[in-house]
Amino acid sequence: MPDRKAPGGFLICELGRIVSVTDAAPEGLNVIEGRYIAPGYVDLHVHGGDGADYMDGNVEAVRIANRAHSRRGTTTIFPTTTTGTTAELGAMIAACRDAQESWTAQDGGRIAGVHYYGPYFAEDKVGCHPSAGRRDPKREEYERFLATGMIKIATCAAELEGAEEFYRAAAEAGCLVTCGHSNSTWTEMQRAYEAGMRHVDHFWCAMSSVASLRAKYGTPMQASMEQFVLANPEMSTEVIADGCHLSPELLEFAYRMKGAARLCLVTDANRALGMPPGKYRFGHLDTGSWFESDGQVGFVAGQGLASSVVGMDTMVRVMKRDTSASLEDVIRMASLTPAERAGVSDEVGSLEVGKRADVIVLDEILNVQRVYLGGERID
Ligand SMILES: [Zn+2]
Ligand SMILES: [Zn+2]
Repeated sequence: MPDRKAPGGFLICELGRIVSVTDAAPEGLNVIEGRYIAPGYVDLHVHGGDGADYMDGNVEAVRIANRAHSRRGTTTIFPTTTTGTTAELGAMIAACRDAQESWTAQDGGRIAGVHYYGPYFAEDKVGCHPSAGRRDPKREEYERFLATGMIKIATCAAELEGAEEFYRAAAEAGCLVTCGHSNSTWTEMQRAYEAGMRHVDHFWCAMSSVASLRAKYGTPMQASMEQFVLANPEMSTEVIADGCHLSPELLEFAYRMKGAARLCLVTDANRALGMPPGKYRFGHLDTGSWFESDGQVGFVAGQGLASSVVGMDTMVRVMKRDTSASLEDVIRMASLTPAERAGVSDEVGSLEVGKRADVIVLDEILNVQRVYLGGERID
């Protein structure tokens, strides 16, 4: 439930919707005992899985990645772009639209919109992404993409030339507006906030800190993205709770500071999810940058981590194991909170009457046992 567990509850779904949540046993239904029924997970930030990256730019790659994530409990997904050419970005958005229009439950997690994440990253915070495909916001480029109606989450580094115009256009288009891969100051964040920015991508990863700004500007030391997010109750953020990116103390700190209504779990998973350890490309199959996976996390030797290779089921288990958050708060951070931030909580994100019957069944240790999309059980 949005704010509590309901022991011994019954959930009744008809024609793809939740029609009743009750503690009176209805007759003639299959009863599942010793398990949890939870809302399907909502992933705001995800690049791929099972060998496919959304930037591959074809419908089959989109479906492969969506299926990989639905097996791990994600029923609503926001395929995420990385840096690349305008043509590569256009192909990715078109492939997601085709997959969305032709969707059936066996295609896996349902696309609620594209997260337009790359290419507007800061040069000094581009991380593992292909740096040739990084650029400042180009109005003719993003206006065309926003006009498709597919983009529901939009990222840009706040210090870039043209960032505020981008934020205003994205907010106008109804997007969750976010700042990421950025070395911006509090002052730049304040201007971004006034232009509609309300969220920061993967907290502590590829973002500014007091130390990074001191290295850039010297003293007096300045407040960074971190302080801005922690000091502003309206700002939300997300953590990669795979046990590799952030220590238990940082996960606990983020949860205590922001609370379950402003902290999202994201996978940020790349194409190496579900694949054996080895070398893979981040982004497009032919032009993406190389990274390695050891089966636990992605990394570039001598450089740092390169996003996760596990699903939302793992993020939920790690958050529960490593923090003081209750089970209902952990589930909220993987479902209702991201749904609210992305503007889809009328439809999905919790077990409430009228919402889509996107439902998962978990065992006692939070492994995903069954997944229902619109009431239809998937293999
Ligand atoms: Zn990133
Ligand atoms: Zn990412």
